[in-house]
Amino acid sequence: NAEKAPMSRVELDTFINDRYAAIEDRLQVVRKRLNRPLTYAEKVVYGHLDDPENEDIRRGISYLRLRPDRVAMQDATAQMAVLQFISSGLPTTAVPSTIHCDHLIEGTTAPQTDRENQFGGVADLKHAITTNKEVYDFLSSAGAKYGIGFWRPGSGIIHQIVLENYAFPGGMMIGTDSHTPNAGGLGMCAVGVGGADAVDVMAGLPWELKAPKVIGVKLTGKLAKWNSPKDIICKVAGILTVKGGTGAIVEYFGSGVDTISCTGMGTICNMGAEIGATTSMFPFNKRSYDYLVATGREPAAKLADAFRENLRADEGAEYDQVIELNLSELEPQINGPFTPDLAHSLSEFGEALKTNKWPTELKAGLIGSCTNSSYEDMQRAASVARQALAAGIKAKVPFTITPGSEQIRATIERDGLIDVFNKVGGTVLANACGPCIGQWKRTEIKKGEANSIITSYNRNFAARNDGNPATHAFVTSPELVTAFAIAGDLTFNPEKDTLVGADGKEIKLEAPTGDELPAKGFDPGEETYQAPAPGQVDVNVDPDSSRLQLLEPFKAWDGKDIEGAHILIKVKGKCTTDHISMAGPWLKYRGHLDNISNNMLIGALNSENEEVNSVKNQETGEYDTVPGVARDYKAKGIEWVVVGDENYGEGSSREHAALEPRHLGARAILVKSFARIHETNLKKQGLLPITFADPADYDKIGPFDRISVKGLTDFQPGKPLTVVGKKPDGETYEFPVNQTFNDNQINWFKAGSALNAMGQGKA
Ligand code: SF4
Repeated sequence: NAEKAPMSRVELDTFINDRYAAIEDRLQVVRKRLNRPLTYAEKVVYGHLDDPENEDIRRGISYLRLRPDRVAMQDATAQMAVLQFISSGLPTTAVPSTIHCDHLIEGTTAPQTDRENQFGGVADLKHAITTNKEVYDFLSSAGAKYGIGFWRPGSGIIHQIVLENYAFPGGMMIGTDSHTPNAGGLGMCAVGVGGADAVDVMAGLPWELKAPKVIGVKLTGKLAKWNSPKDIICKVAGILTVKGGTGAIVEYFGSGVDTISCTGMGTICNMGAEIGATTSMFPFNKRSYDYLVATGREPAAKLADAFRENLRADEGAEYDQVIELNLSELEPQINGPFTPDLAHSLSEFGEALKTNKWPTELKAGLIGSCTNSSYEDMQRAASVARQALAAGIKAKVPFTITPGSEQIRATIERDGLIDVFNKVGGTVLANACGPCIGQWKRTEIKKGEANSIITSYNRNFAARNDGNPATHAFVTSPELVTAFAIAGDLTFNPEKDTLVGADGKEIKLEAPTGDELPAKGFDPGEETYQAPAPGQVDVNVDPDSSRLQLLEPFKAWDGKDIEGAHILIKVKGKCTTDHISMAGPWLKYRGHLDNISNNMLIGALNSENEEVNSVKNQETGEYDTVPGVARDYKAKGIEWVVVGDENYGEGSSREHAALEPRHLGARAILVKSFARIHETNLKKQGLLPITFADPADYDKIGPFDRISVKGLTDFQPGKPLTVVGKKPDGETYEFPVNQTFNDNQINWFKAGSALNAMGQGKA
């Protein structure tokens, strides 16, 4: 009979109570079946099983079908996800979902001498609203119509908004962004996925995930002085490397956990994406309780407290691997450049700079982002800035502050922190991703010029922040970034070195301090949320738009085998989803399938001429681009297939890599092996992913052969199909190929796509 706890402050008619009751029921079944102590991650994952009685539960081996509580999407990835959802014909989403306008807002930094417009964010936001109007209007109207909460540009970054409003201990969420795990700071199992998964869950289908392994990180001791939660994840990234968390949930436990603020736990989970982890999670504790209360969710805090046995690991739970960290012995960490797992302790950083000849002069310091823009982060950074101001000095280099949300911005403005940042020479950018995702209009450095910057962000791959591959980006805590920005020199060690004040006297920075939560409560700032209004709005997409295009349903299977298809390209070697659908300048077409299809397979190596984006049109005999030839075949009604090598489609899970070939007329993708997610994405779009039963048969195929696939009229799970090839001279060959379709997926194939099947009630 606990008090009703709404899912969020803006969703008052769905309740966490119901979710907890469902978790409890499922866990009772799972406990009986497994009969062993469970980790916290397992409790949350198995507490969301679609069929707890019958699903095969083996960590790292079996695939689970799960029922997430909600979906979150950022504006770059939401476009295609929403377009697909619209084409499903469903009236509203089956689970609470939200869209967040954060990725399309550019941040401008003016040179040091031209800083009169301190509120860079105001102008940047205005500019973004104009340039992206069409996309925002579409997402806002579609959100309203289909029951999706819409957070307007300026509201903040998806992960901060989720933490402030939607995350709850024990919940499960998927998000179309890699740093979705941020919500693990509030004990949520929050996983970054591709748009196709989001569409499934919004349409009411279960979500499939390989049962994650669980890596335990045992924290003891206590953070002190210059140490912050960022140092924990920077250290863990150094230990596990960028691939070390693959297929696993990283679960934190031990007495050290209680010494970290809830938002600090969010920082750690956020950057867990940098080690490839499925997600990262912290158990529920007093710090999570306090954060829920401070963000207006006291009923949720009390409910979680009553449910706490299910919100932490059982005594004796076993992990697949355990890492121990004593926080009292941890040094501040600085990671980079070019990879987030290259960890350096502060005391050794200066030496590493010299040894590697990395530029020691700092050119910019950037704090905030979804990773590190909590009230505590801002307070600690401001406490460093105040010391500089007291000594009459300012930041020596451009220094930017990206608040993670309007609530954070308004609160730090009210509490005088923005004033401090401005006075120290900082520029407050919009509440958005900005320079973290390359949306940085940086004027003072030329492309190709080697330089160093330091950020409190999470990723630092080459060219990520400013498009300049020669920029050496280092990642650390906001308080250290602030200290470095004031020093202007990366060899500065605030724990040992001194700065020179305006009066010529030496000053030594004291270790930063800051409140975990605002004493006067959060100021929500401007209202930036738009609630759904199902059915009350029209969704308009301009037919002449270059950025958005409504999707037409793909054609259903014609009931026949594939006969004499051309080979568009026989790919040699690695072919990731980046080779199939490049990012970079193509990002702006993510909502326009026809336009983005002009990048289809342009990065793949043609085995015939060892060139990229050059294939022979077998109708005309001329060489042309891959999409150009595909379009010609499509116009002439000629079917085509792709032949590929090992692990075809690895990398990002973007669904465009499957949508584009389907759109341009592909029938089958025949390869030595698939990356699993891409294989599923191809099936979802009604394509036929098949693999050589004997990989050596790859060599039998010539680039100009005609390919038939036999056996589709008797398509059954587990039953191989047959490829019959015909050489240009008329010679034929044949070999078996495997397919991994289940009954459901065969329905997708027959209907033309998973969405079509869903519309027919057969998904
Ligand atoms: Fe991704 Fe950076 Fe935006 Fe966070 S701030 S969501 S890491 S782009």
